[in-house]
Amino acid sequence: MKLFCATSNEGKLREFRAASGPDFEILPLPGLRAIDAPEESGQTFEANAILKGRFYGAHLPAESAEGFLFAEDSGLEVNALGGDPGVYSARFAGPDATDAANNQHLLKRLEQSANRAARYVCVIALVKNGEVLRTFRGIVEGEITREPKGSGGFGYDPLFFYPPFAITFGEAPPERKAAVSHRAEALAEMFAFLRGYARAH
Ligand code: IMP
Repeated sequence: MKLFCATSNEGKLREFRAASGPDFEILPLPGLRAIDAPEESGQTFEANAILKGRFYGAHLPAESAEGFLFAEDSGLEVNALGGDPGVYSARFAGPDATDAANNQHLLKRLEQSANRAARYVCVIALVKNGEVLRTFRGIVEGEITREPKGSGGFGYDPLFFYPPFAITFGEAPPERKAAVSHRAEALAEMFAFLRGYARAH
């Protein structure tokens, strides 16, 4: 089954592809780069994923208008920061902040904190014929390190220590992260839903 993915984040697209088996082919939405991204004005990951799903669903090329498209919103929730940066993860250090600036900002905010617990959250909105069919949520729990380790992944990965691996996601080979990530969990739920949907239609 072919699925269009509305993300221009190369890191996310790589992970979606790495986590999808032979039954599903994930294709970037054609012409995505030429489309101005909508403002992510939602206060929850669900709200932003739905907003993006509806927006990009309307940009499916005519020959694929009946196909499936999914959009995702994701981020980092840090316990000691009351769940921040949450939906503001990409812009924690300011508008258009780089990953390095966001990471430095996070370390500074947690300088005095012994509580390092955090989680990544991913919400996917699945769209068909312009309608959001459902959302799917994945979570992975970890801890924020005191300095960056590793150069793999993207975003906060060099600071995200994953206890079962005893290394950060920045140090983990891509396929190991792809097997356990918040993105993989949300994707697996969506695939299960799509298998059921295909049987029923
Ligand atoms: P979005 O594009 O608004 O969904 O922003 C997601 C942001 O959350 C990214 O820019 C990263 O800062 C952070 N993020 C989400 N998932 C991951 C991940 O798997 N690794 C590292 N950072 C992530």
